[in-house]
Amino acid sequence: MNAAHNDVMPRYEYRCRSCGDTFELSRPMAESSAPATCPAGHEDTVKLLSTVAVGGRTAGSAASAPAPSGGGGCCGGGCCG
Ligand SMILES: [Zn+2]
Repeated sequence: MNAAHNDVMPRYEYRCRSCGDTFELSRPMAESSAPATCPAGHEDTVKLLSTVAVGGRTAGSAASAPAPSGGGGCCGGGCCG
């Protein structure tokens, strides 16, 4: 049971490898890594390190950092029971 605090959906940016387009989707964090479909219908997309607000560390850290601590709660680290 976890029906709580899902009012705000973060926005994620994706890039289509078929047509090279980039697009954004608002979706729950739980689905942030789920496959996204490009507006043109392509399914070969990759998730970009998005602009999920939180300004702070944005100097490319190469690998994908899932959740910068110090955002808007502790979700993502796994401490939200
Ligand atoms: Zn596409």
